[in-house]
Amino acid sequence: MSGRREEVAAGLAAVEERVRRACAAAGRPRAGVVLVAVTKTWPASDVRLVAELGATDVGESRDQEAAPKHAECADLGLRWHFVGQLQTNKARSVAAYADVVHSVDRARLVDALAAGARHHGRTVRCLVQVALDASPGETGPRGGAAPADVRALADRVAAAEGLELGGVMAVAPRGADPAEAFAALARTAAAVRRAHPAATDLSAGMSGDLEQAVAAGATHLRVGSAVFGARPPLG
Ligand SMILES: *Cc1c(COP(=O)(O)O)cnc(C)c1O
Repeated sequence: MSGRREEVAAGLAAVEERVRRACAAAGRPRAGVVLVAVTKTWPASDVRLVAELGATDVGESRDQEAAPKHAECADLGLRWHFVGQLQTNKARSVAAYADVVHSVDRARLVDALAAGARHHGRTVRCLVQVALDASPGETGPRGGAAPADVRALADRVAAAEGLELGGVMAVAPRGADPAEAFAALARTAAAVRRAHPAATDLSAGMSGDLEQAVAAGATHLRVGSAVFGARPPLG
């Protein structure tokens, strides 16, 4: 399917150019930003394609889809990021293949991922997902812990055998100004870093708002549709 290769190559090149410009505008080195190609809904052949085109990191959001794709693509040496809302009963499966989980948002999930990582003899890097619009004790509509609850979750991840604390992640709330949302996220990230200096990951920015994320200091961009095209509706 050479047509698909050209399509993905063009998408990836356009995204790379946006990232390059955003880094230049922010006075940041391009090497300080990891592009996670979000392959959810796209077949394993697209994972292979984007790897051949130079991608090093891919993102998935549903375990039922990610586990078989990972198995099919295990030879590619990619880093696998789990970015979607995660049910506790899927944590053990995800801990088998995910290098980084971006969506850690509650204590029970921390414990389940830690148990899964130990079971598989792996270390899973975890980012605490922040729901900038959630009230304390609640999670956001797209997952994520309230800002007031982030510090305790970060401490729990850092203390868990089998996990390492990477930092924080957020999706800009619907209707919010992404620049403001990511600035708030950056403040939360800084607070986490004061307690955990090695937790330097700031995962923010998708196809529509990656420039604002880079300006706010994002270290990880999670970009799907701008690389692969509009997703088919979820089945
Ligand atoms: C799907 C998804 C993305 C990618 O979104 P695009 O708008 O297609 O770039 C990023 N982050 C999360 C959490 C997602 O679920």
